[in-house]
Amino acid sequence: MTLHEPGYAGGASATRLDVVLNVRSCVSEDMERTLRAIFQTHFEAYARAHRLPAYVHRAAYWISHCRTAALGGHLRRCPEGHSARAFYNSCHQRICPQCQGLATERWLERQRARLLWCAHHHLIFTIPHELNALWCWNRAPMAKLLFGAVRETLVELLGDPRYLGAQPAFLAALHTCRRNAGCIMHITYIS
Ligand SMILES: [Zn+2]
Repeated sequence: MTLHEPGYAGGASATRLDVVLNVRSCVSEDMERTLRAIFQTHFEAYARAHRLPAYVHRAAYWISHCRTAALGGHLRRCPEGHSARAFYNSCHQRICPQCQGLATERWLERQRARLLWCAHHHLIFTIPHELNALWCWNRAPMAKLLFGAVRETLVELLGDPRYLGAQPAFLAALHTCRRNAGCIMHITYIS
């Protein structure tokens, strides 16, 4: 089977989701290709110079091959048989803008729906950079410790009448990398 680059199929048989997916693909094509190209061009040399956990190698492989023939493909067809089109498979890595853009927008929409009609505060909690290596090899327990410590701190301080005297509610998201690819472990809170 010959696979083609994803594109807007058009026609009466294209669903709204198909249109959204393909429009987004066209709009951010340059940025997506750049990220994939960075991994394809530089990751091998970077991995030789740095000791990296296996999950990083796996993620780099998937992102480097996102929507290419290496990951295989699938066929989308109209149930009425009017049209059919082949697409390369996505890598589904959470930092891949090429295939996670729609999932990101949907996540943001769900979080927006949870916000209350009041002022919110944006807080960032991070760990000393000296602990970055420890984090890389112990991600789950380190993340659990960080989330727990921040939750206890917020509840204790904001529950104190000297500061707020109330029980806070908050949304938290863990960030482990910057957009410029530098490593940083921190939790972003909206409370
Ligand atoms: Zn991808």
